[in-house]
Amino acid sequence: MDYQEIIKAQRTFFDTNTTKDISFRVKELKRLKHVLQENESLLFDAIYKDFKKSEYETYTTELAIIYQEIDLAVKKVKKWIKKKKVATGVANLPASSYVIPEPYGTILVIGAWNYPYQLSLVPAIAAIAAGCTVILKPSEIPIHTSNAMAQLINQNFDPQFFKVIEGAVQETTALLKNKFDKIFFTGSTSVGKIVYQAAAKHLTPVTLELGGKSPAIITEDVHIDMTAKRLVWAKFLNAGQTCIAPDYILVASSIHNQLLEAVQKYIQKAAYKIENHNYTQIINQRNFNRLLELIDPAKVYYGGESTAQDRIINPTVLTEVSLSDKVMQEEIFGPILPVLAFDSIGDAITIVKKLSKPLSCYIFTTNKTLKNKMLNELSFGGGAVNDAVMYFMEKNLPFGGVGDSGMGSYHGKAGFETFSHYKSILQKSFLIELDLKYAPYTAGKLKWLKKLIG
Ligand code: NAD
Repeated sequence: MDYQEIIKAQRTFFDTNTTKDISFRVKELKRLKHVLQENESLLFDAIYKDFKKSEYETYTTELAIIYQEIDLAVKKVKKWIKKKKVATGVANLPASSYVIPEPYGTILVIGAWNYPYQLSLVPAIAAIAAGCTVILKPSEIPIHTSNAMAQLINQNFDPQFFKVIEGAVQETTALLKNKFDKIFFTGSTSVGKIVYQAAAKHLTPVTLELGGKSPAIITEDVHIDMTAKRLVWAKFLNAGQTCIAPDYILVASSIHNQLLEAVQKYIQKAAYKIENHNYTQIINQRNFNRLLELIDPAKVYYGGESTAQDRIINPTVLTEVSLSDKVMQEEIFGPILPVLAFDSIGDAITIVKKLSKPLSCYIFTTNKTLKNKMLNELSFGGGAVNDAVMYFMEKNLPFGGVGDSGMGSYHGKAGFETFSHYKSILQKSFLIELDLKYAPYTAGKLKWLKKLIG
C-alpha cells in the first residue's frame, strides 16, 4: 500500500477546509455511530473470535464508551470550537484578545489490543470532532477486530478523510516514516519511545497513552468488604488485561488478612468463566507464557490454575510478595493480583515512588489526612478515591498518563483539545494609535510607560 499517496490525499482534502465545517464533523460522527450500531453483531463476533470477550462486556466497556463519546462531541462541538475571549493589557488598548482552536490536520492514531475498539475509535472521534482527517492503525494482535474496523470504516468513509490501515511492526514503522500533524499512540512504554523518536524527526506532536504498575493503596479505616468487591471487579475485568487495572495492592498490615478473605469471597462469587460471559482468554500464547512465569507457586493465596489450550489463567492472588519478585518488576496486564502489606503510609508511598509513575492510582481510605497526603505526594496519571477503574468512564475527566505512563490526555473536551492547536489573536482597531512605542524615546514617554505597565 502506498502510504505516501494516502497521506497526500488526506492533506489535499484537509486543505479544502471541508473538515472545518461543523456540519461535516457532526454528519461524519453520526455516520460512524450509525455504521457501528448497524454492525454490532459483526463487532461482537470478531472480538469473541480474538479472545472470547462476551457481548455484554464488549457493549459496556467498548461500544457504550464509543457511543457516549460520539454523542458528547455531537452535542458539544459547536461550543468547543468557539473562540475564547481573554483580557487585553493596557499596552494594546483599545483591542480584544482571543484564542481560536484550529484542527492540527492529518492525524495518525495507533491502537492497542486490549480494548481494541474503543482505544482505536475514541481518539479517532476526538480527531474528527476537532476537524482533522484520520489514519487509524489498529493493533494487529486481535486480527478479527482489526479486520472488522477496516471493513466498516473503509467501506463507509471517504479514504481522504478517514482510513484504516492494518498492519504490524513493519507497516507501522513504514507509516511512521511519514510526516503527520499529530500522532496519538496507545500501547507499551517501550513502543511509545519508538513512536516518540519517529515523530521527533518531523517535529510532530504526540499524545502517548502508555502503561505501568497502577497501585491500589488501602488504609485500615476502609469498608473492607466494599473495597474488596470494587477491586476484584476492576482487576479481573477483561482477565486483568486493562491498562488501568489495579496492578498490585498495598494494604495496611492490620487488615491484610481480612482483605484477602474478602477478595477471595468476591472472586468466588463472580465465578469468572468464559461461559459466564465475565472472563476472557489471555490474548496470545506469548502473554500466556509470560504471565505464568509471574506466578510463584509458593506465594499463591488463591487460584493459580491455568488451561493452556484455551489460554485461560484463573484469577490468582499472591501474598508475601516482595519488590524483588518478578511480578513486581513489570506491568502484569493479566489476572494476577499481588498483595503487599505496609506498616505506615510512608512505607506505602516509598514503594510506589520506587517504581515508575503509574497510569492510575487507587486510594482507599476514609482518613482525610492520609488521602490528602497520598494525593499530594504521589505522581500518577489519574485515579480514584475509594474505587478503581471507574474514573475512566467519567467523560468530563481528562484521561492520560504522566512520566513513563504517557503524555497528553483525551476523552470528551480534552480529546477535542488534544487534536486542536489554539491560535492566539490580538485584534486591534484603527480608532487610535498611541505614540509611546515609537521613537524618539523621550523621558516623558518612559515615565508614562512605567505608569501604564507598572
Ligand atoms: P504495544 O506497544 O505492543 O502495541 C501498540 C501498538 O504499537 C500496536 O498497534 C502495534 O502494532 C504497534 N507496535 C508494536 N511494536 C511496534 C514497533 N516496534 N514499532 C512501531 N509500532 C509498533 O502495546 P499492546 O501490547 O498493544 O498494549 C499493551 C500495553 O499498552 C500495556 O503496557 C498497556 O498498559 C498499554 N495500554 C495503555 C492504555 C492507555 O490508555 N494508557 C490503554 C491500553 C493499553
